[in-house]
Amino acid sequence: MEAPAENFFTPVVPLDFVYNYRVGPYIERYLRGFKDKKILGSKCPGCGKVVVPARMYCGPCNRRMEELVEVSQEGSLENYTIGHVILEKGAIKPAKGPYMLGLINLDGTDSLLLGRVEGVSVAAAKPGLRVKAVWKEELDGDFKDLDHFEPV
Ligand SMILES: [Zn+2]
Repeated sequence: MEAPAENFFTPVVPLDFVYNYRVGPYIERYLRGFKDKKILGSKCPGCGKVVVPARMYCGPCNRRMEELVEVSQEGSLENYTIGHVILEKGAIKPAKGPYMLGLINLDGTDSLLLGRVEGVSVAAAKPGLRVKAVWKEELDGDFKDLDHFEPV
């Protein structure tokens, strides 16, 4: 026998998971560098490419990358998108205002780093725009230490 529709309800359950996520030894070293305002990449012993954030294996040649190198704080904006919502405790909420997320090619690296970009209008944003890292005042060795990028 089928229950009448009025006996059902739709619960709204916010997703508020608290858990610890191990980032692994390379990201741990990458984040430790943030405490000294350093951006660390991995250098491949095979092809010589430098990738940021630091990671264990080179994508193109699959060699293990043992050497971490400090990379430039400046680079080029390669692409971007404008966000209008944020994810907070599992719920999508409107952002305080539009914000720009950019893919940045730091000088001397062979990868793109995702970061928030400030001080650039959509009209001025274009591939090749020179940007630099801006750090939070108090550094915790956390992803949030590298606050955003802004024009050089
Ligand atoms: Zn390689």
